[in-house]
Amino acid sequence: MMKLFKYLKKYSFLITFAIIFVIFQGLLNLYLPDLMADIVNQGVVRGNIDYILNIGGKMLLITLLNITSAVISTYFAAKVAMLFGKDLRSMVFKKVMNFSLHEVDKFGTSTLITRNTNDITQIQTVVFLMLRLVSLAPVMAIGGTIMAVSKSAKLSMVLLVSIPVMFVAVYFIAKYTMPLFRSMQKKLDKLNRILRENLTGVRVIRAFAKTNYEKQRFEIANEDLTQTTLKVNRVFALVFPFIMLVMNFTIVFLIWIGAVQVDKGTLQVGDIMAVMQYVIQIMFSFIMISMIFIFLPRASASAERVYEVLSSETSINEPENPVIPERKGEIEFKDVTFYYEKAKEPALQNISFKVHPGEFVGIIGSSGSGKSTLINLLLRFYDVSKGEILIDGVNIKDLSQKELRNMVSLVPSRPVIFSGTIEDNVRIGKENATEEEIIEALKVAQAWDFVSKLPNGIKTEVSQGGTNLSGGQKQRLAIARGIIGEKKIYIFDDSFSALDFKTDSKVRMALRERLKDSTVIIISLRVATIMNLDKIIVLDNGKIAGIGTHKELMQTSHVYSEIVTTQLSEEEIA
Ligand code: ADP
Ligand code: MG
Repeated sequence: MMKLFKYLKKYSFLITFAIIFVIFQGLLNLYLPDLMADIVNQGVVRGNIDYILNIGGKMLLITLLNITSAVISTYFAAKVAMLFGKDLRSMVFKKVMNFSLHEVDKFGTSTLITRNTNDITQIQTVVFLMLRLVSLAPVMAIGGTIMAVSKSAKLSMVLLVSIPVMFVAVYFIAKYTMPLFRSMQKKLDKLNRILRENLTGVRVIRAFAKTNYEKQRFEIANEDLTQTTLKVNRVFALVFPFIMLVMNFTIVFLIWIGAVQVDKGTLQVGDIMAVMQYVIQIMFSFIMISMIFIFLPRASASAERVYEVLSSETSINEPENPVIPERKGEIEFKDVTFYYEKAKEPALQNISFKVHPGEFVGIIGSSGSGKSTLINLLLRFYDVSKGEILIDGVNIKDLSQKELRNMVSLVPSRPVIFSGTIEDNVRIGKENATEEEIIEALKVAQAWDFVSKLPNGIKTEVSQGGTNLSGGQKQRLAIARGIIGEKKIYIFDDSFSALDFKTDSKVRMALRERLKDSTVIIISLRVATIMNLDKIIVLDNGKIAGIGTHKELMQTSHVYSEIVTTQLSEEEIA
């Protein structure tokens, strides 16, 4: 919590302002009972109407001032809290944007979302309450005690009993609720995760008739969260009546002791009333403090979670002295081994190969053999565990991220479509692309056929995730996006899987022509897609099981010939 508060420093001016007005409000509060005592003691007892009106007017004025300072301090406190929340959200967002996939894997997507929304809201709330209540409560509690004692030390003795009782109560509330609040945030995470999985996987869940199962899973998580919340609220349901009880007992004692003294003539009626008011103020400041205890533990759990994101080291850093490569498009893997976070088995093991500039290379291997992992490493989404990857002879760790992205274009295996028009989606590949260039790219990707038939052509809106497009259409848009920029290296990770054989081969032919000056890597599960390429790399269980042309591999690679025979008929092989 404290660690996050350092980001509040830049608002110290606003904070000081808010606190000054809060304290001012507190002092005015303390002054009011004093005036009231005067009215009773001197005005009412002596029947002095002028005096009553005079002091009454003063009280009215002070009340107005009181309200004004309350409004001002609330305004500033709210402003600080909101600005702080905004800062935190953008800091977390920036941080997450710089995360490598390694960190995203480590946290998980749902919790990153919860942390940047709900957790920060908790922190915001507590900053506001702290500014308003935490600075007001001590003024009222301490000031009230001093004022009460100055009115009548004897009457104030009552506080010697009621204040410790309150302290003990607040202590036990804090002790009991803090762990509950901590677990509440975790349970909220879980709820969000289930909700998210259900929303993204809604088709699968329906298709496999898992709706009831999922409903149950959600219900359980929801119930769990509810029960914890209820537990906490039950405690607080007891707190306020308890404080009222202590307060009322205190007042009864006050009146009792006070009445005896008034009878003896050692105390004035107005003073009893004033002390009573102070006692009420002191008790209310305890209510305020216990309010803080509702929010503080939860916010501090939230703050820890937010801080965890902010303080996590991004494992992939920019090189200090980035090297500018020759930009030819040569790729070399030197004895590369890679483990995913927490994985015992390497996803890739001792991978070595070289791709020359301008080559068209295919990578084939059963699913899970490490094809996408290879690409993740080449694009530096993750860093290798051992070995090195060179582009044009330069270790990719010595390239700036920008340089790397400028050299390599990736069409990922699952096409990502953003909400916006088709044009917007393709333009991601090249910001300043002209309409002609976009249409040209769509043509190469064999997407123009269907795009040109749409009512608004490239200006047609696609929904988020491209749900109004077929799988093959999405893949072709992704291909168009991938090839529109001028890069040295193009990678297609299983990008033709949803295309029929005819379209697949048309796309490949168009690519051959369009990308003839670049290095191209095509990953596929289909032999037909890659068998005619310059070089084929066969992956099997994270290891290389052969490199060469189709003809060579048929002789040398057992794994390759097995894949081939299961996929192709005799005449195609020859
Ligand atoms: P392919 O693309 O050839 O189908 P991948 O490269 O995606 O295979 O996966 C290779 C292996 O690495 C698989 O065993 C898979 O379970 C594992 N793997 C892939 N991504 C991750 C990840 N983010 N975290 C942990 N393991 C992963
Ligand atoms: Mg893959």
